[in-house]
Amino acid sequence: MIHRSLYLRGLAKASLSKVGARCLTAQAATALRDSEPMFRYEEYADVDWNNLGFGLTRTDYMYMAKCSENNAFQHGRLSDYGNVELSPAAGVLNYGQGLFEGTKAYRGDDGRIFLFRPEQNAIRMQIGAERMCMQSPSVQQFVDAVKQTALANKRWIPPPGKGSLYLRPLLIGTGPILGLSPAPEYTFLVYASPVGNYFKDGMAPLNLYVEDEFHRATRGGAGGVKSISNYAPVLKAISKAKGQGFSDVLYLDSVHKKYIEEVSSCNIFLVKGNVISTPETVGTILEGITRKSIIDIARDYGYKVEERPVAVDELLRADEVFTTGTAVSVATVGSITYKGQRVEYKIGDGLVSQKLYKTLVGIQVGKIEDKYNWVVDIN
Ligand SMILES: *Cc1c(COP(=O)(O)O)cnc(C)c1O
Repeated sequence: MIHRSLYLRGLAKASLSKVGARCLTAQAATALRDSEPMFRYEEYADVDWNNLGFGLTRTDYMYMAKCSENNAFQHGRLSDYGNVELSPAAGVLNYGQGLFEGTKAYRGDDGRIFLFRPEQNAIRMQIGAERMCMQSPSVQQFVDAVKQTALANKRWIPPPGKGSLYLRPLLIGTGPILGLSPAPEYTFLVYASPVGNYFKDGMAPLNLYVEDEFHRATRGGAGGVKSISNYAPVLKAISKAKGQGFSDVLYLDSVHKKYIEEVSSCNIFLVKGNVISTPETVGTILEGITRKSIIDIARDYGYKVEERPVAVDELLRADEVFTTGTAVSVATVGSITYKGQRVEYKIGDGLVSQKLYKTLVGIQVGKIEDKYNWVVDIN
C-alpha cells in the first residue's frame, strides 16, 4: 500500500507538477474519477494519518446547490473548497435558520469506499427542514451530493483503520430577510474533512459530567432536529466541564432535572445484565442514526433493548455505559460525576459496548456481512 502510494505520488510530481489539486476544476475532478488509473495523480493526500484527531483539514472540493422561494433545489455542482459569500441579512446569520448533518465515508481493506446509511441523514434533514420552515433537497439529491463530495475528495479518505472522511452537509437560509420569517433562498452544501478519533484521548473511556444547571433542549423546542441553533448554547456547559478535566457533558431533562437525555453530540446507553436502556426520543433528544443501528445490532445479539425514561439514579447501578454517534462511533464511558459523586464503570476487554462497536465498524468498512443493507458502496 505504502509503496503504491509513493509510486503514484512520484508519478504525479513528474507528470502533473504544475497542476496542484486545488487548481483542478470540478469537471477535471470528474474526468479524474472517470479516467482512473491513468489520471490518478495521487492516491493519498499528504496527511499524517497516524495523528488524525477530530479537527478540520481543508480538502479539495465542496458541493453546493441553491433554491429560491418555492422552487425545487437546482442541480448542484462541485467547486473548489473555499469561502462562501453571504448577504449580511442572510436568514442563517440573523435568525439561525440552519441545519447540519454528519456522515462518514470509509475505505475498506480492498480499497472500496463505503457510506453508511446516508439516506437516513437525508430524511433527518428533511424532517429538520420542515421544523425550521426551510426547503430541503430530495433524499436522492442529498445522497448524490454526499457521494460526489466523498469521491471528489477521495485522496483525503484515510487508509483503512486510520479514520474516515467526515462529510458535513449544511442547509442554510442564505436569502436576505429583515422581518422574522423564513429566508427567501436556501443553500445546501457539503464539505469534507478527514478525521480520526473524536475525543483527544483517542479510545480512552470518557469521563462525563452531569449538568444540572444548563439544558440542551426543552419539550416543544428543536432538540430533536439537527438545528445549528441547538449547539452554541451548550458551549458554556462543555467548556466548564472540560475545564474540570471531563470529556463531555451529560444533560438532564429540563422539566424534572431527573432523567438523562444525551451527551453534547452523542446518544447514551446503559447496560445492566442482559438489558440495554437508552432514553426514549420525545423531541428533546437527537435521534442518532448510530443509536438506531446499535439498537438493531444489540437486539440481534439477544439483548433486550429498552427505549424509556432513564432516571439519573440508574447510572449508579449500571454495569456499563456507552455513547453513540457518527463522530464518536461507540465510546465506552469510564466514569460519570453527578452532584459531586463519581461513579466508575467496567472498562477494558469483554465489554458489551466493545462487541457492539466492533460489529458496527466491521459493517461500516465492509469486513462484516451487511445483512441490514446499511452500507452503500460508492466506487
Ligand atoms: C448528531 C448528533 C447525535 C448523533 O447522531 P448520529 O446520527 O448517530 O451521528 C447525537 N446527539 C446530538 C445532539 C447530535 O447532534
